[in-house]
Parts: sequence; C-alpha cells; structure tokens
Amino acid sequence: MKKAAISTTCAYCGVGCGVSMQPQAEGFSASGEVSHPANFGRLCVKGHALGETLSLAGRLLQPEIDRQPVSWSKALDAVANGLQDVIREFGPHAVAFYGSGQLLTEDYYVANKLMKGFIGAGNMDTNSRLCMASAVVGYKRAFGADAVPCNYQDLIVADCVILTGSNTAWAHPVAYQRLAQAKKERPEMRIIVIDPRQTATCDIADLHLPLRPGSDAALFCGALNAMAQSGKLDADFLQHHTQGADETLLAAQDWTLAKTASFCGLTTAQLLTFYQIIADSDRLVTLYSMGINQSSSGVDKCNAIINLHLATGKVGREGCGPFSITGQPNAMGGREVGGLANQLASHMGFTPEEIDRVGRFWMSDNVTQSPGLNAVDLFRAIEEGQIKAVWIMGTNPLVSLPDADRVRAGLARCPLVIVSDIMRDTDTTRAAHICLPALGWGEKNGTVTNSERCISRQRAFLPAPGEAKPDWWILSQVAQRLGFADAFAYQHPAEIFREHAALSGFENHGSRAFDISGLAQLTNFQWDSMRPLQWPVNAANPQGTARLFTDLQFFHPDGKARLIAITPQLPMNQPTTAYPLVMNTGRVRDQWHTMTRTGKSARLMQHISEPFCQFHPDDAPHIHSGDLVRVASSHGWLLLRAQPDSLQPRGSVFVPMHWNSQFSQQARVDALIEAHVDPLSGQPESKHMPVSLRHW
Ligand code: SF4
Repeated sequence: MKKAAISTTCAYCGVGCGVSMQPQAEGFSASGEVSHPANFGRLCVKGHALGETLSLAGRLLQPEIDRQPVSWSKALDAVANGLQDVIREFGPHAVAFYGSGQLLTEDYYVANKLMKGFIGAGNMDTNSRLCMASAVVGYKRAFGADAVPCNYQDLIVADCVILTGSNTAWAHPVAYQRLAQAKKERPEMRIIVIDPRQTATCDIADLHLPLRPGSDAALFCGALNAMAQSGKLDADFLQHHTQGADETLLAAQDWTLAKTASFCGLTTAQLLTFYQIIADSDRLVTLYSMGINQSSSGVDKCNAIINLHLATGKVGREGCGPFSITGQPNAMGGREVGGLANQLASHMGFTPEEIDRVGRFWMSDNVTQSPGLNAVDLFRAIEEGQIKAVWIMGTNPLVSLPDADRVRAGLARCPLVIVSDIMRDTDTTRAAHICLPALGWGEKNGTVTNSERCISRQRAFLPAPGEAKPDWWILSQVAQRLGFADAFAYQHPAEIFREHAALSGFENHGSRAFDISGLAQLTNFQWDSMRPLQWPVNAANPQGTARLFTDLQFFHPDGKARLIAITPQLPMNQPTTAYPLVMNTGRVRDQWHTMTRTGKSARLMQHISEPFCQFHPDDAPHIHSGDLVRVASSHGWLLLRAQPDSLQPRGSVFVPMHWNSQFSQQARVDALIEAHVDPLSGQPESKHMPVSLRHW
C-alpha cells in the first residue's frame, strides 16, 4: 500500500511554499502542495530537489566538545556551566545568542525568552539582520508596526508590479512564476524591474530601469514628486489617514526630472515612462528585497517606497501595497517572537510598560531593560572581549557576515563558542568549543511564517538521526540547568506555540499588529493539523487576515500612517583608483545560503558548479570567459571563474554569496565586504563594495 504523503513547508525562501513529501521505494519525492496559498501546487527547482538533500552525509549526529563526541548530559552541563560562569563573573551582557531564519518559530521563541526574559540581556540577534532589518524599521516608521500589508494574491491582481532590488526569478521563483502567469493572462498588466543588472527577472518586464547602484531612494522620491506635479496624489487619504505629507512632499520637490535622471544614471525618457505607468495604475504593488535592504541607507529606501504608496492611496486595498519579501523560510517568525536584538518579544519593544507586561507574562523579574547588540556589533563585541560566550544556532556567520575574516579572528578569541547545527564541518562549527546536533528540515516539527504573514506547519517525516534533537529541547534543557525549570518545562512544540500565541494577545487591545491569540487554545492535534493562516488570527479575524489596513487604521497611536521626508544617500563605499569597480552580491537560482543543504544535490550543482564573477567585457577586455580571476577589496580576495557578460552594467562585478570553505577555499564573498551598516536598522551594506579585478 502506498504510504501517505506528508504536507510541510519548503526549507528555503520566504515565499514559503507548501510541499508534499511522498515516500518512495527509496527516500522521498517533493511536489507542490495544491492547497497552499503561497504556491497552489507550484515548486521551483530547489523545492523539487528537496528529497535529494536528505542524506546524512556530513551531519553532526552527536554532541561534541573540542571535536570529541560526548553524551548529551555532558554537553548540556558544559553549556550551562559555561554560561553560568560567564554570567557570574562578567554579568548577563557578556553572553549572546545568534539565531537564524532557519529556526522554527517555537525554537526562536524559547531562545528569545531564555536570553531576554531569564538571562536578562538583550543580546539575542539573528542572521535576519542581514536580510530584512531595514524593511522592519521602514514598516514601523510608516505604519507603527512591523506589518506587511499585502499578500501574493495582490501581486496577481495588480495593474502594475514594481520589482526593485529583487532578482525575483532566481531568489523567489514561485512568486515570480505566479506573476509571470498573471502577466500572460493579463498582458495589459505592467511590470517594472528596477535593478542595475539585467537579470532573468527582466524577461517579463515592460520596463527595466538599470539605475546607478544604490540610487533607489532618489528614484522613488522623483516618482513621488512627479505624482504631486501631475495631480496624482490621493489628497483625501493624505489628509485623513497620514501625517508628515507636507514635509515629505517638500523634500521630494528637490527630485526634479533632470536631477533624478542624473543621480540615478537614467534617461529622462525612462523616468517619464516609469512615472506614467505609476500614474495610470490604480492598483500598484512594489515588491522589494535585499537590493533595497542591504544598504547603509536601506530604511530610507524602504520609506521612499512606502511614501509613494501612501501618497497615492495605494495601500490597504486589493492589488496594492509596499511588499517586503524575505530571504529565509522563517525570517518573519523571528520578527514575531522578538528575535532581533532591538525587539523584546511579540512585537513589543523596551518601554517600561512593555518590559513589565512581558515580565508578568513570563513570570520573570529579570527581563532585560534595554535592547542588545545587533549582529555586526555583537561580533565586534566578541572581538573586543566584551562578550565572553556566544551560542550560534543554525547559521554560518563566518561565511555570511560582512568582514567575515575579521569575524573569524574575533570568534577565535572568544572563551566559549557554542554552535547548534545540523552539519558537522562548517566554517562556524570548526570555530566552536561545543557543538550540539540539531534536527534538520524534515526531522523537526514546528511553524514558520512566510513573507505574506502566512503561518504554516513544517512537519517531520523522517526519524531523528543519531542523537540530534530539536532546538527548543536543547535550549529548554540548558534553561533548566540554569535554574529556570518551571518556565522551560516544555514537552512538545505545540505548548510553546500556544504560549507564543497567548503572549501575542496578552493585554493587546488592538495596539499591536501581531496577534494570533485565536490560536492560543489549539490542542496538540489541532496544532499538528493546522492549515496555513495569515495573521492576525484573533477573535475579530478567526480565519486569519489576508490584507492589513483595509480600515485605514494604522498602528501609530493616532491611527494614522507616517510619510517620512527622505534625503537620498549614495552608498558609503565608493570606488577608488585601487578598487575601481563595485561588487554586487546575490543569489543564484539553484543554491541556498551557504550551500550546506543544496550543495548535496548533484542536480542543483549542475546549474552553476563553481563560484564566478560577472562583469562587462569593456571593464576587463583582456579577461576571457572561463579565465581564473582574482577579485580583491581592501579586506581580502577571491579566486573566481570569469564570466564576461555584456548585460552586466559597466563598472560593476556580480559575485554570488553562496560558496563556503567546504566547496571553495577562496570564495567567501563576505570576507571582502566592509561592515558599514544602516544606522537605523544595523543592516550591513552587502551590495556595494569597491573591488579590483585581474587575472589570477
Ligand atoms: Fe521553496 Fe522558495 Fe522555491 Fe517555493 S520558491 S519551492 S519556498 S525555494
């Protein structure tokens, strides 16, 4: 008899596709879950290959101390005693957790609760800082809450979709496929791609704007000014539902057609076409991603986009909205539990009322009184010796953080490095004193939230391998050893989810966007069989909420949204004589993050099998396709395969972000990147680093 398929959620990007894993004679095959609202049966090539990535090759299957296998009890005692010693001698702020959008919401919740509620420091940050921290601040400034207003269906029904800072075709393929299908069915729909590079996403574009790298905010200020000049603003919406319009429009007046064209490196004809399409589109979605967020002024770029939507009344309606799409499967879940260092818990910050509320809910009088260090500062504090113990969970910061060689050197000096991971031999596990084997995708049970606020179940369909354990269990065991047994007596992830849901509704009288109190009473069975739901899920919206702000009530105390006056900035790192080209980083279609999972699939490796760099042939006419080249910045160098490409803008080099030391000794792109961050979000500028290019 054929075994039943298991419904789960994809391990990779923020589209969050539903996946059906069908047992085969050997292993599993993956197909798209027809009923899941993110994908309705579609999967991209990475999703289809999920069954090919399940081997145990390279897995960390037993706890290790100094690379030697030990029992769980010995490893957990060592973690708890190590943390306790540091806290006793140096205080709680000498301890840090660094999590990941790979963690399930239940794992994230327990980590955040332990650090901020019981250890009593704010130093719980996550690799989501590298992904969408600027989008979070942009939403909070505009709407009073970290609230994505729209959904994937809005992409499908819009009159115009702007894709900016996003190679959607490769980074979020199913969202792109659905958009391409909508364009096919409604050719009158307009699609605009804003990207210095001509990527695969441009295949469906009516207009591609190859703007100067980093000039996005000016482009949206110019568009706002053009809408004001042509009488296309929604005066009623601005008057009754927003604040800050006058200052914002005044600031945008600077961005005349000529000035915007010059600043952005575009022609006035291109801009006029852009403005006309926006003016003609009643329903407009702007989808944005890392090209906007990974910038030293990423928050302003987000708000420049949101300003345009607010000023033209294109939010809170079907087919409308500024839509930040996340990179990771559960970046949103991390935001919901408070996994960023500047959040406390459940969309609450650090006001005295919020600290008191969370303390009463958690029954702890040791809740941290202040935010912790964001990712870049956290690893600097390790380097400087202020943090003496760090616990890294499900991420590989020695590959993914900017200035990665400096991070590695800093971590080598840290007295206690604990790493929970599924793989034994990563750049980061090699730097660890204690390694804890975590369950991976297909083995663990919990929930994730995708970019459209949709909470889905990730379900286990494989037995736990070796001695690997769920992250929530590992954290709870350590918490119990630290003396917090009552607060961390979890036996099942559904218990954690119920607590998380209850906290979201605790003294939340409509003042906080994130509210899933309607799920706080789920039985274990109901949690296990939960269908995908978009938050808020509460008494007013028991079936979830497809779209926010339909009542035009925002989360600032006066119920109004905020337009933010923007002064566009260029990237902090500018080319020099020694480093005359600008390196842009990004994803390739068939790989994921640092390749620890997708690198196991021969099929996925066939697409692009080695690290490369793309550049315009005019920038290096002596370098030919296939040559080995050295790409260097003031921080380090890479050895890459040359791919001259006339579609690449002159003056820039594209390098993929995925390769780690396991696959190539000299291709960790983040080792080249200066750690400039946005002062408001702490997100690093990962897409604009001056480099040189020469033959190897
Ligand atoms: Fe997975 Fe993203 Fe592909 Fe969907 S689009 S199958 S979530 S990688």
